[in-house]
Order: sequence, then C-alpha cells, then structure tokens
Amino acid sequence: MYVNRIELSFDAGHRLLDYPGKCAAPHGHTYRAEVFVAARELDALGLALDFAALKRRMKAWVDEYWDHAFLLNDRDTALVGALGALPESKLYLFRGVNPSAEAMAQQLFEVARRQFGDLVRSVRIWESPGQYAEFVPDGTLLPCALQEEALP
Ligand SMILES: [Zn+2]
Repeated sequence: MYVNRIELSFDAGHRLLDYPGKCAAPHGHTYRAEVFVAARELDALGLALDFAALKRRMKAWVDEYWDHAFLLNDRDTALVGALGALPESKLYLFRGVNPSAEAMAQQLFEVARRQFGDLVRSVRIWESPGQYAEFVPDGTLLPCALQEEALP
C-alpha cells in the first residue's frame, strides 16, 4: 500500500455555538489540512496519485471556500446575521453542526472524495500545532493504538 499526503494551510475564523467556554467567542486559527490518499498499485508513471493534482485541486477548494472566511454553524443566527451585514464577509455555513475541527475534517474529506474517489483515505485538520481532528470513514483500519485497545 502506498500512502501519499499533501498539506495546506489557511486562515479562518469560527466559533462553537453554545460551547461552555472561550471557544464560544468568535476567534480565528491558522489551520493546517492534511489529505491522505492510498493506492495498492502505482500508475504507469510510478505514482499512487500525482501530488501536484491533489494539492492544486484541494487548494483551489480551500482558497475559494475557507481561506479568510468565517466558518459558522447555520443555527448561529446572531453571528450569521452580523457578519452577513458586512459586504466584505466571506461566510461558510455548516448545516446543523458547529465548525469544529472534526466537522471541517469530515467536510474536506467529502470534497476530496468527490475529486479523487476511493483513493482518499482520511483528512486531518490541525487547529493548533498541538491538536488535530481526523476524519476516517467507517470500515477503514483505525490507527494501531486504537486497534490494540479494541482487542479482548
Ligand atoms: Zn477555535
């Protein structure tokens, strides 16, 4: 199995609606996104997937929708309304869920799957240098540590 990974970085604002702590305040992060693809065979060029194509298409989507945007839960009517009143605002709405690193990882995974199909294995969103959330679809092998915990 060959595993390729690309990394992007972008800046965005968000807040967690109803969160009992400081993450309820509008704030921003310099996020890092990692997209992992895996292939059993190499193509005629000796590649699992062309890094340039993967990075170009994922960067294009992130630049258009998330970079310098405010990521919001669509139920966050107060902030959607306030920021929506500014013509310079760029808003990206999550349907019925907070724009957590977890929700972002799932969203970006869906974007990657639409572009590159089943080659896409997982997506990580780093919210800060010390923490990330990863979306891995059901049925995919979990990291070794988790598999060991699941043993009887
Ligand atoms: Zn945050």
